[in-house]
Amino acid sequence: MTSPILDTGRHEALTSGSHWLTGVRHWSVSTKLIVMIAPLLILFLVLFAWAFAGRQRMQVLEEQTAVTAEAILTQIQADREYYASTIVPRLTALQVRISADYQHTPNAFPLPATFIREVTEMIANSPASYRIKLISPWPINKKNGIQDPFQEEGFKALLTTNTKMFKRQDHVGGTTVMRFLAPDRAIAQSCVGCHNSHPSSPKQDFRLNDIMGGIEISIPIESALQSARRDQLWLVTGGGGISFIVMLLILWGSRVVVTQPVRELTAQMQKISGASGDVAEEPTIRRKTEQAMGEEIRQLWHGFWDMYLSLRLHQQEHSADLEQQGIEMQLLNQRLIDMQKITQSMQQAISEEEVYRILCHTLQQSIPLQQILILRLNASEDRLETVWTSPKREDLPIDGYPVWNEPHRCPVIRSGREYKVQDTSRDLVCTSSVSNTQSGSYWCVPLIIGGRTIGVVHLLSQEINRWTEDTCHWIEALVNVAAPMIGHLQHLERAKRRALIDELTGTYNRRFLEEALAKLVVPDDRRRGQVLSLMVIDLDHFKKVNDTYGHQVGDLVLKTVAQTLHKTLKDSDVLARYGGEEFVIVLPRTDTAGAVAVAERLRIAVAGLTLRKLAPAAPERVTISVGVASCPVHATTVAELIHAADEALYKSKSQGRNCVTCAPDSLEVAYQNPGEQDPPQ
Ligand code: GH3
Ligand code: MG
Ligand code: MG
Repeated sequence: MTSPILDTGRHEALTSGSHWLTGVRHWSVSTKLIVMIAPLLILFLVLFAWAFAGRQRMQVLEEQTAVTAEAILTQIQADREYYASTIVPRLTALQVRISADYQHTPNAFPLPATFIREVTEMIANSPASYRIKLISPWPINKKNGIQDPFQEEGFKALLTTNTKMFKRQDHVGGTTVMRFLAPDRAIAQSCVGCHNSHPSSPKQDFRLNDIMGGIEISIPIESALQSARRDQLWLVTGGGGISFIVMLLILWGSRVVVTQPVRELTAQMQKISGASGDVAEEPTIRRKTEQAMGEEIRQLWHGFWDMYLSLRLHQQEHSADLEQQGIEMQLLNQRLIDMQKITQSMQQAISEEEVYRILCHTLQQSIPLQQILILRLNASEDRLETVWTSPKREDLPIDGYPVWNEPHRCPVIRSGREYKVQDTSRDLVCTSSVSNTQSGSYWCVPLIIGGRTIGVVHLLSQEINRWTEDTCHWIEALVNVAAPMIGHLQHLERAKRRALIDELTGTYNRRFLEEALAKLVVPDDRRRGQVLSLMVIDLDHFKKVNDTYGHQVGDLVLKTVAQTLHKTLKDSDVLARYGGEEFVIVLPRTDTAGAVAVAERLRIAVAGLTLRKLAPAAPERVTISVGVASCPVHATTVAELIHAADEALYKSKSQGRNCVTCAPDSLEVAYQNPGEQDPPQ
């Protein structure tokens, strides 16, 4: 998914137009702002320039008026000098009087100062409206004395400093003027003499070049100032107006270029972040906004959209992880429940076989396996035998088929560690025939009880690389639960055997016999036509054997006889050592005749034993006497049955031994070997 803003097709479509805006929209926000602000800056620059120019104009005006004033002053001084130095001496030579009151004095001419005043007054009435005035700081009359602060300040400056011309802008008579005050010096001795000798002169000690008065020149600048003010007003109102318009434009531009796009993008972002699920559809941005957006905002949006997509992807991955974890947790939970059930079932098992069956069933249920074999060391630990196959295999009969005649060739038995082959066609396989398959994999898990490896669980799969870590953990857990159960049941079995089996002969003991008889000999009403026979067997003259060959030989003889009896009997028959050298055999579903026949077979088998093959110092032969009784023919209870058989045995003994007697109705010797009544000892 791509950003809608940056959708290439749309982007190109937007940029391909000939509208001038299409070029502008590529500008960055800062460029756009600069473009908008630039006119304002230029405007400020122009205003500043104009203001500066106004100030310059004032300065120029001042300078112009000063030049004018200086020119006037120079003219006045030149005129007066000419009057005083040329005209007045000539007039004086002609006996013409020079008088301040020349207008009322006949044949008189004005004093140079009066001349100047007159001339200046005439100039003052010129069209330029300049005003020129002669002022005395020591007034002879009120008319020519200091009359305002400008003059006072001006004289102070002229008299105390070396000021050439004091000047200031002032407001006089309702109009603005530039006022200049220049010193009026005694430029000729005649001036000094006249002033010093004049009766109205305030001073009589004037010397040549002293300041004797001042010439004030006023030049009107009102119209020039008004023109400048008009210009300034135009500048202020025009510039301000243009600035205001430019600012409005900036405001509008920044709204269009920055505020609106940012606001719209923010709204889109909020919409996305506030959405309850994934935002599948691309958010649409108005075309106007797109056009207004600068590269930075476009990149900002692009970054946000990318971030959203990557966050969504991350979240999806996280959700998938969580889902996976949930599935794993469920599986784990299920396995814990299964394990608890299996443990419970195994704890309730009463035989090893049951444990094997539960283990194989569970394994087959959870993992598809081609074959499961459970192998166990035999009691003497010289063979590794199959004790369970799943599914059943005819070529590997249970309890007897030696997988290994030398168990320690099996790597699992030897090391007590698992043996894993992930690919039988590639990996190193062990040399056992049960493991050799063309393709697939197998795994052998040791059955360890109390730190001793007592067997192997061999698992075969058609798949290669079947043994993943997870699978192995589960199988190991199952085997580890089964192993102690097997150990426990083996231990129980051994204890049970020890309790019910006679140690010397390996036959059942008297206790087992009594328990078996209690179950087998049932009252008539439950018998339903079934018969049962019992025989009591006693070795003849056994005391003599002990006495002659010793107890050890006696034991060996007892053991050999027991083995002979066991071999001759059917699986359903029960052989037990009743005590000393006496044995009892229970023959279920066998009548008296059948029992007598069996007894006879037994008698012959024992009599036929060549004991000297076992031990050189042993009797040559040994014989047995047998008493036979049946239910319900001779007895209905256990006690009666044993008693009846015992009685029959007694009869056999009394009739010469090495014979079979059936009791109690006939108590006749059934079979007898006449020549062997007293076998040689
Ligand atoms: P009979 O033919 O009348 O039965 O004579 P007998 O000598 O066999 O009978 P008796 O009851 O006199 O002797 C039984 C002997 O069996 C006595 C005992 O020493 C011996 N015996 C009993 N139990 C064992 C055993 O476990 N081992 C050995 N070696 N001898 C045993
Ligand atoms: Mg006896
Ligand atoms: Mg005996």
